[in-house]
Amino acid sequence: MTDILSLTPEELKEEILALGLPAFRAKQISGWLKTGVRDFSEMSNLPKELRESLKERFSLTAPVLLRAQTSELDQTGKFLWGLSDGNCVETVLMRYRYGNSVCISSQVGCRQGCAFCASTIGGLIRPLTAGEMLDEVLFTEKENDVSVSNVVLMGIGEPLDNLDNVLRFLHLVSHPEGRNLSLRHITVSTCGLPEGIRRLSEEKLPITLSVSLHAPDDETRSRIMPSNCGIQRLAEVCEEYFARTGRRLSFEYAMIAGVNDSDRQAELLAGLARRLGAHVNLIPLNYVAERGLKPSSPAVIRRFQGLLEEKGVNVTVRRSLGGDIDASCGQLRRKHMNKQQ
Ligand code: SF4
Repeated sequence: MTDILSLTPEELKEEILALGLPAFRAKQISGWLKTGVRDFSEMSNLPKELRESLKERFSLTAPVLLRAQTSELDQTGKFLWGLSDGNCVETVLMRYRYGNSVCISSQVGCRQGCAFCASTIGGLIRPLTAGEMLDEVLFTEKENDVSVSNVVLMGIGEPLDNLDNVLRFLHLVSHPEGRNLSLRHITVSTCGLPEGIRRLSEEKLPITLSVSLHAPDDETRSRIMPSNCGIQRLAEVCEEYFARTGRRLSFEYAMIAGVNDSDRQAELLAGLARRLGAHVNLIPLNYVAERGLKPSSPAVIRRFQGLLEEKGVNVTVRRSLGGDIDASCGQLRRKHMNKQQ
């Protein structure tokens, strides 16, 4: 059966016309889909026979909330969604002064093997469909009675390893007849897959591309990120991305004690960031028990930040949200899986 939520409004219109129905029915259905409906029977302004024939022809994915955690410190919410095939993924809702932001997953599991990450333990299970990614946004809004203004693809999975579905999701979530979110308010995060970055640049989308760098030298980067393609190659493909899209990128840099927080590494990072005009976002590492890596101390992070600033780099330290819940990506899913074993 066709997954109706993954259809673009244009494709939905074609399907509806092929059924011999007027085009306005497609608009009515799109109107319902963006509200996060669980069943065709909820589409109350459609004739009963139409609802029945939609049910026979299309599937409607709707995740089941398995677990919710809310931080008492800052109201950050973390949600574990059960998917129709029994898998599960996580979504995080962050409440900022400027609006609400959701961090969504793009795959069930991940095959990139980063040493500090809980999402990759167990490898890649499967990619998420565009509709399942859209569900994460719609049902997080519905569950919390909020409206989201920013979406970050930085949860479980590597978005550029699922690029066709991610591109379709970006089209769906920004479509005027769909959720209608501005692409300028969407960030795609990658561990730096060169082919994916190149393909994404061809789309010339006004999104923000965020590269998880985490180390400025190949020896360290390959140790903690086995999918490292080489810093030089990564820098070249990032330059190409900027030349094609005119969009500056940002580097995510998780500060790991004794691994990537030396003065020499600050110097190398500064050189790379200046070459690419990239913003650097330092992130105190979220401790993941299974991975055994520890965050750099606040004093070391301050020193590292100061060294970057001295070299003229635009740098921020990410405020750690949800410190009292399983804030790091993949932890909640891991716990759920461990319980089931
Ligand atoms: S950090 Fe991202 S790319 Fe790396 S293993 Fe985790 S989910 Fe995959």
